[in-house]
Amino acid sequence: MREVGSRSADSRADLKGMPLAELEAFFARWGKERYRARQVSRWVYRKLVDDFAGMTDLSKEFRALLAASCRISAPPAERVDISADGTEKALFRLEDGEAVESVLIPDEDRRTLCISSQAGCALGCGFCATGAMGFRRNLSSAEIVHQVCFFARRLEERGERLSNVVFMGMGEPLRNVPEVSRAVDILLSQYGFGLSGKRVTVSTAGIVPEMLALAEKYPVSFAVSLNASRDAQRSLLMPVNRKYPLKELLAAMRRIPLQSGRKVTAEYVLLSGVNDTPADAGTLARMLKGARIKVNLIPYNPHAGSPYESPRQETVDRFRDILQAAGIQTITRERRGADIRAACGQLCADAKEKLKIQKK
Ligand code: SAH
Ligand code: SF4
Repeated sequence: MREVGSRSADSRADLKGMPLAELEAFFARWGKERYRARQVSRWVYRKLVDDFAGMTDLSKEFRALLAASCRISAPPAERVDISADGTEKALFRLEDGEAVESVLIPDEDRRTLCISSQAGCALGCGFCATGAMGFRRNLSSAEIVHQVCFFARRLEERGERLSNVVFMGMGEPLRNVPEVSRAVDILLSQYGFGLSGKRVTVSTAGIVPEMLALAEKYPVSFAVSLNASRDAQRSLLMPVNRKYPLKELLAAMRRIPLQSGRKVTAEYVLLSGVNDTPADAGTLARMLKGARIKVNLIPYNPHAGSPYESPRQETVDRFRDILQAAGIQTITRERRGADIRAACGQLCADAKEKLKIQKK
C-alpha cells in the first residue's frame, strides 16, 4: 500500500479529514451521541475553529476529553505570496517536512481555491513542474481539507467567502482516491463546507476507471487534461495515455452522469509548435462533436527545465475560433499569478530549494 499522510509524533486521533460518518462511528465507540459528530464537524469546517476550547456548545468535560485524546491538525502556511493580480499562493509545510501549495484565485464574485492532492506526481507529464518533481507521497484527507480551512478562514476575516474548489494543484487526485474521496465528502457535506457539486471540480490526467467510479459516488464536476488530439502526440506529452488512450478516455467522458445543462471540461494546454496548429484544433473539434464537453484552453506557463514555449496570442485565438466555429463551447483560461509562480503547472513547492536543504 502507498503511504498516506505524515507520520505524526502526536498519537492523538486527528479529527480533521474525517467525514461525518467516520466521526459518528468514532464518537459511538466512546458511547457519545450521534449529534456530537455534527457539532464538531460544524465547528471545524463551518466555524473554522481548530482548538477544542473554542467549541463553546460542548460541555467542559467533553471538550477536555476531546483535547486529551484527539487533535485537529493545521499544518502551518510557511509563506503566502500575493500576486499583482490578487492571486494568493500558500506553501504548507507538512509534519514530515514535505511541502504542498494551494492557490486562491479571485475573479469578480468568485473565489476559487486550487488545492493539491499529492506532494509531487508520478505521472510525469513533460510540460508540468509538479511532474518534474516526481512522486513524493499522497496527502491525507486532513492535509487536503486543511488547505480549504486555511483559505476559508483567510477569506472570512475580510468578509469574503470561498465559492469554488478545484483539484488542480499538485498531484493526480485519482491516484489518491481514498483520501480525495474523504475530502470530497467533507467539501460537499452540509456539516462540512456545504459546497454544491457544481462548485467542486476534480481535474484528472484521465485515469478512466477511477474517474467513472468517483463520478458514480459523488456529484462533483470533472475536468480532464486532454492536451492533445492524437494518441501518438498525447502519449509523448502524457505517458498515462499509453494506459488509457484517447478513444477510451473520450468514451468515459461521455459516460459521466451530468445534471441538465452541465458539461465535462476538457483542458488543453497549448504548447507552441507542438499541439497548437489549426489541424490540431480541427481534429479536436471532430473528436468532441456532439458530446457534452466544453474546452478550457490553457496557454502553456513556462517553468525552469521544461523545453516548451508559450504560444503567441494569435495562435491561441485561432485555435479557439476553430473550436467555436465547430460549435464547441471554448474559453481561454486567463493566466493568473504567474509573477508568484502560481499559474497552472507551475506548482512545485520550490522543489529545488527544498532539495538543496535536504542535501546539506
Ligand atoms: N493531475 C491533474 C490535476 C493537476 S494539473 C491533471 O493533470 O489534470 C492541473 C492542470 O494544469 C492540468 O490541466 C494540466 O494539464 C495543467 N498544466 C500542467 N502544466 C502546465 C503548464 N506548464 N502550463 C499550463 N498548464 C499546465
Ligand atoms: Fe501530474 Fe497533472 Fe502534472 Fe501530469 S499535469 S504531471 S498528472 S499534476
